[in-house]
Amino acid sequence: MVDEGRTLCADNGNVDLISDLIEGYANRVEPLQTRRASEEERLGHRARPGELSPALTSAFQRLARDVLERSREAVSDEHVAAVVRSQESMRPTYLIGMEDFTLVTLTGLSVEREYSDLPLEWYRPPCERAIDYAVRTRAGEFGPCSSAVFAGLHALDFDTARQAGRMAGEARLDGVAAGLVGAMKDQSFVDFRIRDGEAVDLGAAVPRPYVRTLDIAAGLHIGYAEAAGRRPAFHALGVGSPILLPLLSLLGDEQTYLAVDSTAPIKDATARTISLYVDTPAPRKLKAYRIAEFWLADNDGWRCTCPYCRDFTERHPPDPAKARVWWRGEGERALSAADMLAPSPLAEFLPILSAPGDEATARRANAARISHNHWVMKRIESSVRKQGRDPDALRRFVAETMRVYGALDGSHPGWRAAAEAAWRIAEESSHELERMSGG
Ligand SMILES: [Zn+2]
Repeated sequence: MVDEGRTLCADNGNVDLISDLIEGYANRVEPLQTRRASEEERLGHRARPGELSPALTSAFQRLARDVLERSREAVSDEHVAAVVRSQESMRPTYLIGMEDFTLVTLTGLSVEREYSDLPLEWYRPPCERAIDYAVRTRAGEFGPCSSAVFAGLHALDFDTARQAGRMAGEARLDGVAAGLVGAMKDQSFVDFRIRDGEAVDLGAAVPRPYVRTLDIAAGLHIGYAEAAGRRPAFHALGVGSPILLPLLSLLGDEQTYLAVDSTAPIKDATARTISLYVDTPAPRKLKAYRIAEFWLADNDGWRCTCPYCRDFTERHPPDPAKARVWWRGEGERALSAADMLAPSPLAEFLPILSAPGDEATARRANAARISHNHWVMKRIESSVRKQGRDPDALRRFVAETMRVYGALDGSHPGWRAAAEAAWRIAEESSHELERMSGG
């Protein structure tokens, strides 16, 4: 939800360093996860805090301590100075301070709090380090710095996020940037969340990313507000799912800066499984081959009125009649992602949904879809913004969005339940934040 006017944020370019670190531990974590899975099988449910065997718990602890150590060594002050120099050269409105990699690496390796059973205090030093980087960057210790500095913080769950938020609030930082790429990539399922050290049942096992993302974003907000008496300026890195925009907006208010950025709208537009975003009747991603299937079954086609789709389909009009003939010849079978890629004939008949054979056309189709996806995200943002003056109106708006989203068919029931669970976290936090910030 980028601010009115121009706001430029300079990222710290840590992605490669982080993936190297995660990669380096892959072999070591795998046997631990196998043992954990078989212990869970014996338990008959996903491990909750204190349930894994002492031997396995200490193996997870040793790994976590090692990650903490390695993260400390991964970044030198010279490296930070070089990063700040290149960030400053962009003359950004704000830059994202150097991170500590411990928690993002643990997330990437799925070393959960319930596996290592380390106390909350164990997670303080990595946050202290990131906050210290932000304070020193602002003070010019890594070279001249004229922009605002957001601390780059990570957390594993609500409690670790709240602790980090409190520390950031106490340090009176300009803002907080939360790295949520790891949370969004999480492949695991969860049937509970932890808040204030207690397991809270979610009622069903759901994919973890939405719950974890909202837990972290909400925890950072609430912790910061506890220390500072107001919400933080907040930047969510790596959140590109359309439905998460209204959910995250519940944490903000009219005065407080709240931004998300992600490469997902680009990746989804150009990946082997092409996806397009829509905001009506509710925000979501649609796989291009599913849109094609719907279209060929004599329903309405892709009639997006955004300037990018319009412009592209004028130059490369779809030919649904030919597409239907082809489909009949295929026995009207279910389509797959590959059907939208050349040399599939369908890719030529429905180019807006496809990667056709001609390279220039395929490039233009990619460009149109990238712009389309961003256009949809913008529309979601402005519909949220319209409600932003009144927290009750915003909550009603998001509740209605969730009602429509939940009633859509075609979306995966697990993800629907995950969005529901994430919404409950956002809704509950919205009330808490309103009380804490005095409105
Ligand atoms: Zn469009």
